[in-house]
Amino acid sequence: MSEKQEQPKNLPWIFICSGASNVGQATNAACVELYREGKARLGCIAAIGAHVESFIKPNQSSERKVICIDGCGTRCASKTLEKAEINPAVCIVVTDLGIKKNMEMVYGDEDVKTVKKQIEKEL
Ligand code: SF4
Repeated sequence: MSEKQEQPKNLPWIFICSGASNVGQATNAACVELYREGKARLGCIAAIGAHVESFIKPNQSSERKVICIDGCGTRCASKTLEKAEINPAVCIVVTDLGIKKNMEMVYGDEDVKTVKKQIEKEL
């Protein structure tokens, strides 16, 4: 799906920690692919953390499926959503998928595929 095409309103919304690590960045890459394929919408976790009401409110609605993905067990995205009283239907921790965290941003296509496959199961 091209960026200019309108996406269906009932797609799940994904929030990613987007951490400065291989697991954060592999997740980003996987989610951008899902967005471009028209399978999910992506939300701004920083806007939630910054208490931007117009970003928070729609995600508190039970009509919207929210998926939260954290790179590691520190679970920064989950904690950010929790503080904003947003309850994700699904939470995924990427290191639980067998990908070891590193801070050198070293990840490969296989890592992106692993993360993407797991998210696709939950859409
Ligand atoms: S959950 Fe882990 S990878 Fe993601 S921002 Fe927090 S510490 Fe970084």
